[in-house]
Amino acid sequence: MARLGHAAGLDVGGTKIAAQLFDETWNVIDAREVATPKTSYASLLNVIVNEINWLHATGDGVQIPIGIGLPGIVDPRTGAVLTANLPASGHPLWTDLVQRLAGFDPVIINDCRAFALSEAVLGAGHDHETVVGLVIGTGLAGGLVFGGNLIKGSNGAAGEFGHIPIPTHLLQKYGLPVLWCGCGRSGCYETLGSGVGLSRIAKHVTGEDIDASAFAKNPDHIAPDLQRCLSIWIDLLSELVMELCLTVDPDCIVLGGGASKAPGLVSGLTNALDGKLLTAMTGPMICLAQGGPQSGARGAAFAAVMARNAKGS
Ligand SMILES: [Zn+2]
Repeated sequence: MARLGHAAGLDVGGTKIAAQLFDETWNVIDAREVATPKTSYASLLNVIVNEINWLHATGDGVQIPIGIGLPGIVDPRTGAVLTANLPASGHPLWTDLVQRLAGFDPVIINDCRAFALSEAVLGAGHDHETVVGLVIGTGLAGGLVFGGNLIKGSNGAAGEFGHIPIPTHLLQKYGLPVLWCGCGRSGCYETLGSGVGLSRIAKHVTGEDIDASAFAKNPDHIAPDLQRCLSIWIDLLSELVMELCLTVDPDCIVLGGGASKAPGLVSGLTNALDGKLLTAMTGPMICLAQGGPQSGARGAAFAAVMARNAKGS
């Protein structure tokens, strides 16, 4: 007998849109991927509507909760999406979807917040009260979950950890430049602490363009100068983790994103943080994500279930 869909999520990335249907125990029942339209908002809207209709049809036609995770922030005052990677910036995506879907009410959530929620509730952080999710990829962002609830903030910006500035003393320690960031500010952690940032550090240290794959090897096979790049990168990230410890003091930090697989990151961060914590502080458990590629869609789906439950209560 076919299992009924419990909830569904769309993970809208810069290159592909992943649609996933989940059962009541959050196993994937069905999934598919399509390319993300890049030329116009209208074509993006059409594809998202198609995928939602497919999820409804696959879930036996029942209007299950559906969440949409995307790389951007939904302005809570205007409903407009602010995103650099999709042709949707400034458009009222939620309002347009409601109109196209005959009143159906999807939840739109930042993809890094979706990751944090998924890992905090259903993944590596599920035994912990205060969980930070940190996605280290092309960019650097995450989310904060307390007691199973995602902290959104008044602007929807809670979790934009990558746009906290790197302390000057750390830049001076390694002679690193203050780089302009895509957010419009300078010296943000994202500029040097992201996966792209690791390559920038490598360029600074070696003078050469180093492919990210050079860091994906067995740690014993990485050249000494690249080991030094990793060490600098981990020192910067551990400072960000220290700042998170001083502000929200999490029990657990779950790492995701392509660069989280860099060799020795978890142990390196844990050790570096130990040297920075104040007396009597105990560091959080730092671990890698468990959810794999479905974390974004699963977190968005979970947010949609929570929103529907809140409406019903
Ligand atoms: Zn920034």
